[in-house]
Amino acid sequence: MKLSKIASKVRPSQTLSISVRANIKKAQGFDVINFSAGEPDFDTPYNVKEAAIEAINENFTKYTPYEGLLELREAVADTLERRGLTYSPEQIVVSNGSKHALKNAFSAIIDPGDEVIVPAPYWNSYIDIVNMVYGVPVVVETKKENVFKITVEELEEAYTDKTKALIINSPNNPTGVMYTKDELEKIAEFAVEKDIYVISDEVYSCLVYSKKMPHVSIASLGKEIYDRTIVVTGLSKKYSMTGWRVGFSASNAEVAKAIGNIQSNSTSNVNSIAQAAAIEALDNADDVAEEMLKEFQHRRDYIAQRVSDIPLISCMIPKGAFYLFVDVSKLLGREIDGKILETSRDVADVLMDKYNVAVVPSDAFGYSDYIRISFATSMRDIVEGSRRIEKFVKDNF
Ligand code: GLU
Repeated sequence: MKLSKIASKVRPSQTLSISVRANIKKAQGFDVINFSAGEPDFDTPYNVKEAAIEAINENFTKYTPYEGLLELREAVADTLERRGLTYSPEQIVVSNGSKHALKNAFSAIIDPGDEVIVPAPYWNSYIDIVNMVYGVPVVVETKKENVFKITVEELEEAYTDKTKALIINSPNNPTGVMYTKDELEKIAEFAVEKDIYVISDEVYSCLVYSKKMPHVSIASLGKEIYDRTIVVTGLSKKYSMTGWRVGFSASNAEVAKAIGNIQSNSTSNVNSIAQAAAIEALDNADDVAEEMLKEFQHRRDYIAQRVSDIPLISCMIPKGAFYLFVDVSKLLGREIDGKILETSRDVADVLMDKYNVAVVPSDAFGYSDYIRISFATSMRDIVEGSRRIEKFVKDNF
């Protein structure tokens, strides 16, 4: 019996698989430093956990509206309003994490064969999600000299009469790069002129390190672009709630209704307990989130400096998110233990196998010659992991 074409095409999430590999090695007794998945190491805030316990004790355990509790969607609307985005609760759907919100969003707008422009480096799951809804990802490799940001000229070149949407992810995973208001205005103009949707993945909008460069949502740049943008974000990164699986989309009412219908026939509502916890997070955990952000900034400054001091490899200081995108091109073509390092995946393999450091090679993100280091991990791991990466370079090159 044959699998479906889609099932044979979809790959396991690379970020998650490398993290699983690291955890298996850890369980075997190796002291592995896991710089792979972008998962904050902090505990979920205490009051959020208490809200969930209370929800259980109060038997808040039945179906909720499939699009999410009204109180939660109101809390989401308030949060978005503080970022300059006005949505009514009817325009918001709560899903099982932002990954699920993305899948729902694409399901709502893509017909088989429709093209979606995906600037690379991209977060790995975009490609598989677009494939899963029978869309065609059109990858545009951004240039290092453009700080990995897509330009309107590149968009024009990628555009065809089948283009239905484009993805903007700012701050970006894996580079930490952020688009300015001016840049977004140009992209918005392009999207409006071509009459296409924009999927704006804003899950890292809570992790921005400079007050001088606040996050701008493309949806905030006028009525026409607002109408054609689907904003997707979630609670995982901001409140350290990865396992709770709460994300959401905000869009025009027609798209939101379609997303709700799709969800009503697939997963129904997000776990009721997680929704109760999410309300508490949005209403009463921003002070804890602020503390986590400060700690991420401290870690970012430390690891960016350490990596910059290592010969042959280099990185930019990320403006947002919690990843360092490290150029390892100067290590390629060299030999370790009789094996030539051909790609950054070979570099990542040596780091994992010989130095017990898990990183994600950039081919996972549709780009060559880089590795991604997540600094959403403890300072102890960051210090030790940087030491091992330095040793790897000094030992071998
Ligand atoms: N988004 C995070 C990452 O890129 C978490 C893992 C995943 O879902 O891909 O590492």
